[in-house]
Amino acid sequence: MELIRSVAEMAALGRKWRAENLRVGLVPTMGYLHEGHLALAQRAVGENDLTVLSIFVNPIQFGPSEDLAVYPRDLDGDLAKAGAVGVNYAFVPEAEDMYPQGFGTSMDVAGVTETLCGASRKGHFQGVCVVLTKLFNLVQPANAYFGQKDGQQLAVVRKLVKDLNIPVHIAGVPIVREADGLAKSSRNVYLDAECREQALVLNQSLQLAKRLFDEGERDASLIKAAVQAHIETAPLAQIEYVEMVDAVTMQPVRRPEGQVMLAVAVRFKGTRLIDNVLLG
Ligand code: AMP
Repeated sequence: MELIRSVAEMAALGRKWRAENLRVGLVPTMGYLHEGHLALAQRAVGENDLTVLSIFVNPIQFGPSEDLAVYPRDLDGDLAKAGAVGVNYAFVPEAEDMYPQGFGTSMDVAGVTETLCGASRKGHFQGVCVVLTKLFNLVQPANAYFGQKDGQQLAVVRKLVKDLNIPVHIAGVPIVREADGLAKSSRNVYLDAECREQALVLNQSLQLAKRLFDEGERDASLIKAAVQAHIETAPLAQIEYVEMVDAVTMQPVRRPEGQVMLAVAVRFKGTRLIDNVLLG
């Protein structure tokens, strides 16, 4: 696997691959890779002529009180893991190279960014959309891979490429979980033993929602109340949101029709975890 550190070099390779008509897969990440990221990478490797995995802790998608400075990093480990699943190139740019002096563009994908994480993390999706647009322009991928773990991000990027006619296919990959059900996340390393144990209520509550839905329950407020009550059995859980939204528009629904997403964000001693389940 080859390591690319410079934006100019990435752009030159992207142009070359396009000229050669190669089908390129892109897997955008913030690093500290786990099996969730690797599921995306494996799928990309299987579906493309070559795969680029980017590792970039994008400063402009973090709020001032968020964990940018302490976000976990392990470049050597990441390169070994990505190489082992067949990734061809790791693109690991510096923030100063991505956002040089004078950078001034912001982006707002209205509608899908107004609920859930978009409501509680102001500016987050603006930063996500800017960095992804830059990555799409640099790498020129035919396919880009995103996890259902960040269900709203997946909806936002689908809307972004549709609205702007960006010629990339967006593939969504199911959530990869630990054996006990906790969704894999780079941020799980922040959890102490007590929080780690109590964090199991997230997936348990989503399974409860799925069971209610499968049994025919269609009152969103009733399903959300059951989810909330289960999460509240964990003394350390501080709920940020429990919401049921349309899977495409991310707008809250009262009675689920078509595909909906039941999504939760919960803090455990300051560590913010998100999880979701698709229903219907
Ligand atoms: P991140 O490094 O957290 O920005 O994640 C990079 C990509 O990996 C995003 O598309 C995430 O949705 C995806 N991802 C993270 N965790 C998981 C997981 N447990 N299962 C599936 N995809 C994941």
